[in-house]
Amino acid sequence: MGLVVQKYGGSSVADAEGIKRVAKRIVDAKKNGHQVVVVVSAMGDTTDELIDLAEQVSPMPAGREFDMLLTAGERISMALLAMAIKNLGHEAQSFTGSQAGVITDSVHNKARIIDVTPGRIRTALDEGNIAIVAGFQGVSADSKDITTLGRGGSDTTAVALAAALDAEVCEIYTDVDGVFTADPRVVKKARKIDWISSEDMLELAASGSKVLLHRCVEYARRYNIPIHVRSSFSGLPGTWVSNENPQGDAQVEHAIISGVAHDVSEAKITVVGVPDKPGEAAAIFRAIADAEINIDMIVQNVSAASTGLTDISFTLPKAEGHKAIDALEKAKSAIGFDSLRYDDQIGKISLVGAGMKTNPGVTASFFQALSDAGVNIELISTSEIRISVVTRQDDVNEAVRAVHTAFGLDSDSDEAVVYGGTGR
Ligand code: ADP
Ligand code: ASP
Ligand code: MG
Repeated sequence: MGLVVQKYGGSSVADAEGIKRVAKRIVDAKKNGHQVVVVVSAMGDTTDELIDLAEQVSPMPAGREFDMLLTAGERISMALLAMAIKNLGHEAQSFTGSQAGVITDSVHNKARIIDVTPGRIRTALDEGNIAIVAGFQGVSADSKDITTLGRGGSDTTAVALAAALDAEVCEIYTDVDGVFTADPRVVKKARKIDWISSEDMLELAASGSKVLLHRCVEYARRYNIPIHVRSSFSGLPGTWVSNENPQGDAQVEHAIISGVAHDVSEAKITVVGVPDKPGEAAAIFRAIADAEINIDMIVQNVSAASTGLTDISFTLPKAEGHKAIDALEKAKSAIGFDSLRYDDQIGKISLVGAGMKTNPGVTASFFQALSDAGVNIELISTSEIRISVVTRQDDVNEAVRAVHTAFGLDSDSDEAVVYGGTGR
């Protein structure tokens, strides 16, 4: 029996009962002969509550202190979980990200892992302990300050540790039975997927399916770590995410469409009245990049011949909206645009599937489904295996259901179960 890494999300450890339930599961894995490393998230909506608290004290808290605050959430759950396991008669030790050897760059609030040196975890395991690690956090190699990996970052901690410890599998325990063809909170008829390729999962995650964080999938793909997403509330097998189909590609035909993702966490900025000449887009996106903001979709209108001016719209995480507006306002005279428009009432719907490459009708059917549902499209972007559109936020749920049905993804048997969580 080898080493397993198990990650429990906030919804699985939302209260004392949850922590005791999870502790039993962990002890069972240990009793089955595994060495067990557990990565745990903050309890329930603790991280959101800490963010709300920080905002009441300061509108733009300094990154260093903000990270210090947020890592407290995971420290609470790791210590309680270790106590609950000891109470069941097994040895457990908890470790912060820094103690576990999660080394990052120094970008606060969204640090990247640059190295994992899990010496203390190895020692703890060799001494017969279950090792509990606080997810979502590390320590900067340069500044030695505590960092966080961005929302949902415990998934990445888990895969990074699984890679560094050469684990058999990284199990991600959550509040649904696996990865579904759409968010089960929105589509009751969503279907559980038994296996999904890392490639398709990466696109779903990047398009807003928060059941797995895209950085975690990226990491798992690079280090060839199989992920098993499953519920901590049921004993059911979940979804395997890996580079190669375990049953061999010949036996299982690739689904044309893997699923529908949606995202309401983005906002849209329109830069109005941009002179239509070389270098303007470069200047706008240089200002955004210098503020360390990641953008998603970009659309540039055709310029009006009479004015020689054009508009450029792009989407970005709502949480970075203020920062982006500030950065552009500062560069306004240098760039020479007229004004900025900010819209945080947008939503994005994406259809993902490797089969799209070879099935020409997919795009047309997608747009038809949206039109039949009366949903207006504002922006469009595509990759080889994904089509995304931006719509009004109020239309998103309806649009996801319409597209799910149109592509024949609705399950004809059970309704998808959501065991916990608030969906926040
Ligand atoms: P955790 O607290 O375990 O990290 P998250 O809330 O981050 O849980 O992720 C689980 C949630 O992801 C589910 O409750 C579900 O609402 C949402 N989700 C979005 N898309 C999907 C999908 N395609 N399949 C399963 N869950 C999804
Ligand atoms: N607690 C952090 C969050 O809520 C990290 C995580 O849960 O993965 O984003
Ligand atoms: Mg999560």
